[in-house]
Amino acid sequence: MVIRLLPEQNQTPSYQISLFPSTSKKLISLLKHAHGLIIFTGPTGSGKTTTLYSMLSETSDLVNRNVITLEDPIEKPSDTVLQVQVNERAGISYSAGLKAILRHDPDIIMVGEIRDKETAETAIRASLTGHLVLTTMHTRDARGAIYRLIEFGINWLEIEQTLIAVTAQRLVELTCPYCEGTCSPFCFSSGSSKRGNVFEILTGKDLSAVLKEARGELQSYHYKTLKDAIRKGIALGFIKESEYQRWVLNDGE
Ligand SMILES: [Zn+2]
Repeated sequence: MVIRLLPEQNQTPSYQISLFPSTSKKLISLLKHAHGLIIFTGPTGSGKTTTLYSMLSETSDLVNRNVITLEDPIEKPSDTVLQVQVNERAGISYSAGLKAILRHDPDIIMVGEIRDKETAETAIRASLTGHLVLTTMHTRDARGAIYRLIEFGINWLEIEQTLIAVTAQRLVELTCPYCEGTCSPFCFSSGSSKRGNVFEILTGKDLSAVLKEARGELQSYHYKTLKDAIRKGIALGFIKESEYQRWVLNDGE
């Protein structure tokens, strides 16, 4: 049994979604799209849900766009967003829930997680009906999401027509800004966890190139990967050097 405790109240402000403000900006600018699919990937505990909610409340508060979510379960109750809980026994499956949501004609639909054929089809169908769809997926990196969609039976045309961007994220340990090296036990911020999120964002030309590569064409692309982001953070002194070792161990490159 796994018990996950999620703080319900403290929302990360959107400019703090990423450790790098330029990345936060790039993520928020993705919300300008009127329709299409944006997928947030990462392992459990990487902060996908937190990122998604920060983005949703940003657009619902600031741009006044109408947001409805379809989740199983609802991870973070929200005051600004209308949330629908999937309940198979009560007849609210993903597809039934989506049908009900479409009648309200929201601007943005959040599908909790793509984890099988049904949820994948729901997310694709919602974005084909002219809505902006945000969702999460459990993959190691952004490219992995494309291969997973294919496994779930989504065809190339549907992916090319809908997919705007795929992100991948990791929560990394940050260095103490007051101490050099290890944080001193006498430091006032000692013991408090200092963590931040780094991202890779696959979109535009790079996304098209990765799509073509997945179809077997030889391609080159130059987007900044998670590994690049972690290296940059270490070089700038924000991220602990041990995070690079952890990256190599977990993601083995
Ligand atoms: Zn310190």
